[in-house]
Amino acid sequence: MSSLSERLSAIDARIDSRLKLNFRESSSLTRIVVSKFHPSSMVRELFSLGVSDFGENRDQEASAKAQELLDLGVNWHFIGQLQSNKVKSVLGYASVIHSVDRASLLSALMTQTAERAEPLDVFVQVNLTDDAGRGGVDERDLLEFAEQVASAPGLNLLGLMAVASLEGEEERDFTKIAALSALLVKDHPDARYISAGMSNDFELAIDFGATHLRIGTAITGNRDL
Ligand SMILES: *Cc1c(COP(=O)(O)O)cnc(C)c1O
Repeated sequence: MSSLSERLSAIDARIDSRLKLNFRESSSLTRIVVSKFHPSSMVRELFSLGVSDFGENRDQEASAKAQELLDLGVNWHFIGQLQSNKVKSVLGYASVIHSVDRASLLSALMTQTAERAEPLDVFVQVNLTDDAGRGGVDERDLLEFAEQVASAPGLNLLGLMAVASLEGEEERDFTKIAALSALLVKDHPDARYISAGMSNDFELAIDFGATHLRIGTAITGNRDL
């Protein structure tokens, strides 16, 4: 079995060659390692290997890890569905929230960020499926919702986040994500970032302009659920 550092190097090499194929600089990409279900000791090891951006999807787990790793200066990315009553806690450690997807959450975020000196970086998550339970704003409501996010003084709209479907339709989904991102950028020229691409599809995501990859198992190994 390969070691953590071998898997990290292998994935980073694949990321690098895919960026080169697309004539992209490595600075155009943020590789986030999704550490959910893995202990803080693994985050510590990855940090010592040069990883500074980590993704978590549940506040209870993430806040405990952030507390244990306060000495490191990790950039925590909150990537999961977020309940409004957890916003205050998440803001205690997260530097980016990828999953802003509805008015009630936006309103909680606005309340909690109103006094910030530096606005909080956020992505609007769009749902590419018909299953509303998946999280993400319906694509038909994207621009109107993004307008509300962009006008919140405590929030900085980075761009669009999406999860491509798992079975064979990734290319269709990434085409859609790129098109929606282009629409968003027309209204908000700075909101040009795209959070997309996971263990199974990050190379295709790079081809379609992803700027923030969220990679879990390909680097961490399987999660014990
Ligand atoms: C768990 C998770 C990932 C990472 O998935 P892998 O397939 O393990 O790379 C990415 N994005 C979100 C939103 C997740 O919940």
